[in-house]
Amino acid sequence: MITLAKTAKEVVKYQETPKDGKVCRDCLHFIAETNECKTVAGAINPEGWCSIYFKNPMLKKETNETNITAKTV
Ligand code: SF4
Repeated sequence: MITLAKTAKEVVKYQETPKDGKVCRDCLHFIAETNECKTVAGAINPEGWCSIYFKNPMLKKETNETNITAKTV
């Protein structure tokens, strides 16, 4: 069995709470079936967050991107 090394939570400043509305369950790296992360080691709280958070592009449908663009003017 191959086990890929994952990054320690401390390294990526993982926290058990959301940050600026960003949460692990919306992250590309999150594995919802097992509450794990493809990149960070250990059990991951769906409501947690870390510094390498990357929004899952599959969630775009739930976001009004036009509004986001308008806000960044
Ligand atoms: S925010 Fe960090 S810990 Fe959470 S799923 Fe994404 S990469 Fe993993």
